[in-house]
Amino acid sequence: MALRRVVTIEEDTLRKKSREVTVFDDKLWVLLDDMQQTMDKFGGVGLAAPQVGILRRVIVIENDDEMIEFINPLITSMKGKQREVEGCLSSPGEWWYVERPEQIRVRAWNRHGKEFNIDADGVFAITICHEIDHLNGILFTDIGDERVEDEEELEKAKRQRNRKRKKKRR
Ligand code: ZN
Repeated sequence: MALRRVVTIEEDTLRKKSREVTVFDDKLWVLLDDMQQTMDKFGGVGLAAPQVGILRRVIVIENDDEMIEFINPLITSMKGKQREVEGCLSSPGEWWYVERPEQIRVRAWNRHGKEFNIDADGVFAITICHEIDHLNGILFTDIGDERVEDEEELEKAKRQRNRKRKKKRR
């Protein structure tokens, strides 16, 4: 495994559309392993292949301490709306409020080329939508409706999100 350089939002790579994966080989597995290591190192919860300079439809997401790999992901249904603060490993220190669906269903393939479907809501759904946008050259700064200007406001938004999470658990 190896760390990869994270591309920043000023670079053209993040404006390009990624191509579908057609071969599920060692090269793909190395990419997936490297992406997970890179995401861990920089403390992210999601990473898309174009963020490490590879224009392929591959994303990795950490959800409840589990690492999930999505290859050629497609959102097949969405319900409701939520508006939360998002950040991006390609733009450290920048935060925006973004509106996303509250619940989604996603079809994707795993590293062995096996198809699966997954339901996601809350932060997990937000992360999947954010990463799929990367595969289409879309950034959270394009669709965000309000920039979070300072640390204090960011902390407030995080506390609100945590309260919501606790409510959900009950
Ligand atoms: Zn991002």
